[in-house]
Amino acid sequence: MRKIAILGSTGSIGTQTLEVVRENGDIKVSALAAGNNITLLEKQIREFLPETAAVWSEERAAKLRENVSDLDVNIVSGMEGLMEVAAMQGTEMVVTAIVGMIGIRPTIAAIQAGKDIALANKETLVTAGHIIMPLAEECGVRILPVDSEHSAIFQSLQGGQEKALHKILLTASGGPFRGKKREDLLNIQPEDALKHPNWEMGRKITIDSSTLVNKGLEVIEAKWLFNVDIDQIQVVVQPQSIIHSMVEYVDGAIIAELGTPDMKLPIQYALYYPERRYLPGERLDFQSLSHMTFEKPDMDTFYGLRLAFEAGREGGSLPTVFNAANELAVSKFLDRKIKYLEIPEIIETCMREHRNILNPSVEEILETEREVYEQIESRW
Ligand code: NDP
Repeated sequence: MRKIAILGSTGSIGTQTLEVVRENGDIKVSALAAGNNITLLEKQIREFLPETAAVWSEERAAKLRENVSDLDVNIVSGMEGLMEVAAMQGTEMVVTAIVGMIGIRPTIAAIQAGKDIALANKETLVTAGHIIMPLAEECGVRILPVDSEHSAIFQSLQGGQEKALHKILLTASGGPFRGKKREDLLNIQPEDALKHPNWEMGRKITIDSSTLVNKGLEVIEAKWLFNVDIDQIQVVVQPQSIIHSMVEYVDGAIIAELGTPDMKLPIQYALYYPERRYLPGERLDFQSLSHMTFEKPDMDTFYGLRLAFEAGREGGSLPTVFNAANELAVSKFLDRKIKYLEIPEIIETCMREHRNILNPSVEEILETEREVYEQIESRW
């Protein structure tokens, strides 16, 4: 039986991964890792009986250890615990469904231990793609995209014609504030930005989708996953989220993946690649589909996307600054400590003041993150 570990099992991607596992019934979950939600983690442990489970704080780990003392499960904590889950003997694949740059070290540990990666944690690839992709090649492991857009690109590239790839057309819904201008966004509250028109996701990515920073992160993620220049990637707004992304080949042919918005499709595709399996759920009905529309993204109002193109083009430690500044700014916005429009302002200020490090090591990436956090904490 195929064995997997899930980092971030209590989140949106993590729980949907477990639904796919439950529905298929032929994957063994060897290890789970979560942040704080030990109530849900305990339920998952009781249902899936992993050998190991990790919780971020040792205090909560101790509580969970007590709660599941009737079971044969090893409860670990902290970064060491995450690394243990990532590199556990016997697992073939690690689903990285944790949120944020905290995923860098466990992802590297999993690759070094020879595990295939089903990658949802885009922040890791954005900041450390130059380390992760060559390492994966060296260790002979596959990085299979879970992000729906990247899965769509990956699916559109099946057939082995990567060399003939001319352009990636990355689709975007435009988020809940599509069509709005800066003056309309002055008083946006977290609850307004947490309403995504088409997808239900974790809090951070939902805010990122509203600012188009998520699309920016996806642009950089696509650069690494598909080995293209940033300027070979074009963002196309397709508000109905029916086309999940497309590729244009050198002869002008465009191949796309379409479907109803359901993350279980890309999750299942990554878990069983190259096999396709039946997936219950709504199907796209072209006879009742009235229209599909396309727009250019508004990179003046949502200039986080423009900054992502800049960070991705420059490379080095600048994507880390882009990402780290966004992570802290989003968390401050969710805590109502800054205004919505300060999110891109903070990212831009941090990027302008950063001295770029070419080819940063993991330590330099994490040091850059710390510096950006200090800079933001001292000013906002
Ligand atoms: P959620 O916020 O729903 O879940 C995040 C998960 O990470 C939770 O299980 C959380 O645990 C866990 N976590 C957070 N901090 C730690 C930590 N220090 N140690 C261990 N676990 C931790 O996020 P999503 O599922 O929405 O997103 C996860 C990743 O997937 C992100 O990188 C996102 O960009 C990407 N993604 C998400 C999509 C979606 O549809 N949701 C689509 C494409 C990509 P806990 O809740 O217990 O604290």
